[in-house]
Parts: sequence; C-alpha cells; structure tokens
Amino acid sequence: MSGELVLIVEDNEMNMKLVRDVLQSWGYRTLEAQTARTALSLAVAEPPSLILMDIQLPDLDGIAALDKLREHPATASIAVVALTAFAMNEDEQRFLDAGFDGYLAKPINVREFPSQIRRFCDLAAERTFK
Ligand code: MN
Repeated sequence: MSGELVLIVEDNEMNMKLVRDVLQSWGYRTLEAQTARTALSLAVAEPPSLILMDIQLPDLDGIAALDKLREHPATASIAVVALTAFAMNEDEQRFLDAGFDGYLAKPINVREFPSQIRRFCDLAAERTFK
C-alpha cells in the first residue's frame, strides 16, 4: 500500500528530481528540503512516514541532522534512511552506528528503489504499531 509521505532531503537538484519522480510515480506523497534546517522544520510541521537524508548538505551534515531529529519529540521516532554517494561497506556501518534506520547508495537504482522504499516504510509502520 503506497501513499505514504516521504521527506526527501537533498541539495542536488537532479538527484532530488529523480527521487521525487520515482516516488510520486509509485504513489508516494513527497516533501522536499534542500537543507537540514528546512528538513527539520518540515518534519516537525508534518511528520512523514520516512525521511531520505543526503549526508552532504549546505548547512548541517546528515548525521547532525539525524541527531536533531532524534532530539525532538515530534520527530524522534521517524524512520530515517541515509541516501548518499559514500558507498563503501565501512560507510554503511558508520551510518547504521550513527542511528540511521538504513542506507541507500546514490545514484539510486531506479528499478530497485521502489521496493527498497516499500521495505523501509513497512519496517517503520511495524515499529509504530509495536
Ligand atoms: Mn548533497
């Protein structure tokens, strides 16, 4: 079942467009932020089911942004997935250690992306209802 709200945090216009277009074509609703600070205020105002977080952003980096989300009661339990061009195995572990719920490498694989997002949304929903 699609239709969930996904917040995309990405400062690269082309990456943003690709992720947004794929998500929308699969029925997801999207919010967009180019900076961590915009992402934080959007997430507080309308908590999404899932946040896709770029790591290199113009203001805070994605890990600092994740910490801010976890500190705020309105956003503390939202599933946050790192979406980043850092693509080594040790980077994946670093992001999981930092508290991300998952990790996706850029560029996204357009064919696999919808099922990856589906899986994260299902995990997030499961966690909410436990
Ligand atoms: Mn970036």
